[in-house]
Amino acid sequence: MTILNLSERIPVSHRFPGAYRDVGAARRFLADLLGRNHPCFYDAALLTSELATVIMYHAQICVFGRDTPEFTVSVRAEPDSVGVTVLSPGCGCWAVPGVTLGRGLHLVELIAARSGLVRTLPDPGVWFELRDR
Ligand SMILES: [Zn+2]
Repeated sequence: MTILNLSERIPVSHRFPGAYRDVGAARRFLADLLGRNHPCFYDAALLTSELATVIMYHAQICVFGRDTPEFTVSVRAEPDSVGVTVLSPGCGCWAVPGVTLGRGLHLVELIAARSGLVRTLPDPGVWFELRDR
């Protein structure tokens, strides 16, 4: 299945409850949206699943407690680029480099053409954009 909202550029979102299997489910959600022939497919799948993994780690160790690993992935696909936003309710400290475990944020910085933090409560997170190179 390939869904590209090329004309209206509307992001397609899905909320995941935050079980460990949802890391893979998020990767498959992205794969179904983009299709394997999309030039950003592999990098987008990698970064999305790594961010979901960071959210899993965060829920176990966050000093602020009570955060769940629930997260939402939003994808805005175009023929030669993709924008992905990963949000998770709670303190959002998982989105600050060096605060939580995992390599997700480091990989986003290395691979994405552009990236940034979403500081909007109650669902802070990370966005990144990939372009065909
Ligand atoms: Zn936290």
